Amino acid sequence: MSDVRNVIIIGSGPAGYTAALYTARASLKPLVFEGAVTAGGALMNTTEVENFPGFQDGIMGPELMDNMRAQSERFGAELVPDDIVNVDLTGEIKTVTDTAGTVHRAKAVIVATGSQHRKLGLPNEDALSGRGVSWCATCDGFFFKDQDIAVIGGGDTAMEEATFLSRFAKSVTIVHRRDTLRASKAMQDRAFADPKIKFVWDSEVAEVQGDQKLSALKLRNVKTGELSDLAVTGLFIAIGHDPRTELFKGQLELDEEGYLKVDAPSTRTNLTGVFGAGDVVDHTYRQAITAAGTGCSAALDAERFLAALA
Ligand code: FAD
Repeated sequence: MSDVRNVIIIGSGPAGYTAALYTARASLKPLVFEGAVTAGGALMNTTEVENFPGFQDGIMGPELMDNMRAQSERFGAELVPDDIVNVDLTGEIKTVTDTAGTVHRAKAVIVATGSQHRKLGLPNEDALSGRGVSWCATCDGFFFKDQDIAVIGGGDTAMEEATFLSRFAKSVTIVHRRDTLRASKAMQDRAFADPKIKFVWDSEVAEVQGDQKLSALKLRNVKTGELSDLAVTGLFIAIGHDPRTELFKGQLELDEEGYLKVDAPSTRTNLTGVFGAGDVVDHTYRQAITAAGTGCSAALDAERFLAALA
């Protein structure tokens, strides 16, 4: 069994690396589990990031994450490209188990496992991510000035994305599987009143088309089976997110949608010495800078917690 560390961080997106940077600079020698396949987090799957402060000309997502990684390592964070598959966070000494079955122990744990956006599950979807296909209007809307865009979904997020995108776009077509929306009445009214927004009801995406860039969607009417083409250069998929909290069920308090509950504005969870940061907590903002911000808060909360133990 390993020595007891000060702090273990699970996750390596902006939240995890920022927590690693701060705890490393506080001489806490953090041990960071980055994830086996997805080290670097959600921004590893995107192209240009234009809204992370400090990069006047923008920066490619993977480069931004490599910089964050290197910065935390420079101050002594120990980074492990592996998944944590089991945890016991209830005692004074927390244990986390990696894929080889090795148990690691720490006095504090920061959970920064992010959330996974739901996908349509179509062949071209990943290949065209950052090339017309997006999951975040706040992040990418600006790239679609005067273009024809489709938004998939019928909930509040889809309506919010569509009304936000209509500021830039030539047209926004909301494609929804049913003939009524799940979104709140207020959000629906805003979308219905927007002259740039059209609706295609009872329909799903059958194909995402394009070679290097998205060029069109093939839609299927779920009632009649009829296929139709929709020429768009932007596709925003707004069918929900799944916070990565499976591992913590039964130990950490989760809300009804599965997000980690914290004692905001702190990052404390229901278990002493366990802190949560980034998109695994955040329903609302889901941005790299907000994830980095709460990663910083979690590191400072963990530092204070450890100082009080000494
Ligand atoms: P994530 O970045 O999701 O990182 C979570 C990490 O936890 C992953 O590395 C994962 O491997 C790891 N992990 C999960 N479970 C385990 C486990 N059991 N063991 C070990 N590790 C684990 N935001 C912007 O501000 N600007 C943009 O331009 C922008 N573009 C985006 C483009 C795309 C395609 C996507 C998907 C998102 C974009 N976002 C953007 C949103 C931004 O990426 C997220 O808000 C941010 O990455 C959240 O950071 P996080 O650290 O909370 O989680």
